[in-house]
Amino acid sequence: MNLLIMGLPGAGKGTQAAKIVDTFGLKHVSTGDMFRAAMANKTELGLLAKSYIDKGDLVPDEVTNGIVKERLAEGDIKEHGVLLDGYPRTLDQAKALDQAMAELGLSLDGVVNIDVAPESLVERLSGRIIHKETGATFHKLFNPPAGDYNEDDYYQREDDKPETVKRRLDVNIAQGEPILAHYRAKNLVHDIDGNQDINDVFASIVKVLETLK
Ligand code: ADP
Ligand code: AMP
Repeated sequence: MNLLIMGLPGAGKGTQAAKIVDTFGLKHVSTGDMFRAAMANKTELGLLAKSYIDKGDLVPDEVTNGIVKERLAEGDIKEHGVLLDGYPRTLDQAKALDQAMAELGLSLDGVVNIDVAPESLVERLSGRIIHKETGATFHKLFNPPAGDYNEDDYYQREDDKPETVKRRLDVNIAQGEPILAHYRAKNLVHDIDGNQDINDVFASIVKVLETLK
């Protein structure tokens, strides 16, 4: 099964993606995670990506399309299936993905679109914390790590600071609708109410994915 998970920044894509890949055995491919890993390693890609990400802008399509296509070409994707998270983020990326998948002999089975009231997104992003060792995502209030956790083991994403969040939401709102329209025309989109508790969102997703397997 090959899937996309879509939604605005803070909608819960990464949180749900981790649960989906655990349950359905898919490979999680997150362009945001790939860029953050490259930034941490200070590679050429990382330095380039950082100049866009720090401003809340999108990394240029040709760069992003290139790293995704390279990843999709690896053998584990055909064997296990993929859940793409954070990609495509422009209509041109969606068209590039269609072409790359066709060339690689992969087909898209569904698009999980998590819908969340825009006013919730800022509080979700401003409370988001990431476990340094595993990269797992939590929220200071809505999904705190179990027990008495040590704050030093977690970090806040640089681009989750309020000044960058507004720009990210503006950019993603503008780009998102045409992408959804592209997939709605192919009857692939499944809208999920993301304004529920994390486990209830997941239960809604599982119900849809069981019909696609
Ligand atoms: P995205 O990958 O779409 O940017 P995340 O999965 O990182 O979003 O979620 C953003 C923040 O909101 C995280 O801190 C996460 O713990 C929290 N979160 C995710 N889903 C929910 C939910 N259904 N209700 C409340 N908080 C949530
Ligand atoms: P995310 O982790 O998905 O919130 O992505 C973090 C940042 O990485 C975004 O704000 C963009 O700057 C960049 N990024 C991630 N995915 C893409 C993409 N598909 N196209 C362009 N830029 C991206």
